[in-house]
Amino acid sequence: MPNMLTVTPVPILTDNYTWLISTPQGSNAVVLDPGDAAPVARALESLDLKPAAVLATHHHDDHVAGIPELASTGIPVYGPRDSRIPHLTNPVSAGDVITPAGLETEFEAIAVPGHTLDHLAYYGGGALFSGDALFAGGCGRLFEGTPDQMQAYLAVLRELPAGTRLYCGHEYTLANLEFAATVEPDNETLLQRLETVRQQRAKGGITLPSTLGDECATNPFLRWDNENVKEQAEAYAGQKLDTPAGVIAALRQWKDRF
Ligand SMILES: [Zn+2]
Repeated sequence: MPNMLTVTPVPILTDNYTWLISTPQGSNAVVLDPGDAAPVARALESLDLKPAAVLATHHHDDHVAGIPELASTGIPVYGPRDSRIPHLTNPVSAGDVITPAGLETEFEAIAVPGHTLDHLAYYGGGALFSGDALFAGGCGRLFEGTPDQMQAYLAVLRELPAGTRLYCGHEYTLANLEFAATVEPDNETLLQRLETVRQQRAKGGITLPSTLGDECATNPFLRWDNENVKEQAEAYAGQKLDTPAGVIAALRQWKDRF
């Protein structure tokens, strides 16, 4: 099964994750979003993994600051065709299918503009690496793109298989689900998930990966067409919201002030 992936989190900085992508018997790792070199080097050493490639989702420092040190060993750096990613050797465009050095798994690059315009998500081996475009229970802030762009990519991600494992860039799940429960106080699945995540976080545990099925059932940013979510967004905005992007815009503003 060339698609079997072992994905190991490396907690870095305040609440970021770098993901080490390898195979069960393999000795190579693809390093996704190394925002800090030292903890990644320690994790690779303790797991006896050799870095074979770097994969970057977007240019923010907390995702790329560790690249120069990793790239100094000569390994390829894959990332969006954006000059702000250091040491980029293998520029990737939306729709490209790449097989990063060291892995046999193919990943499709999906355009997810919004948080940044260069942002890509990588989908392969039954996993989605979403960076800061989609979080467990939420989504990234809109720094560069528009609600229309965000809703368009969320609609694409929502169509991926429900069993797809979601690996995102930050441990924001608890705060995201607390907001989600404010939007949908009667969503039983969401309240159960919130309780599970509370317990995980109380023990200092990691709440990832989730699945896209979990997200579609509980993440308000994937639920713009749910009647309750739409009504609540309209109540917050103080007006009728006639488009999915309008609902997303209201939810995003609400979350920014939450
Ligand atoms: Zn970011």
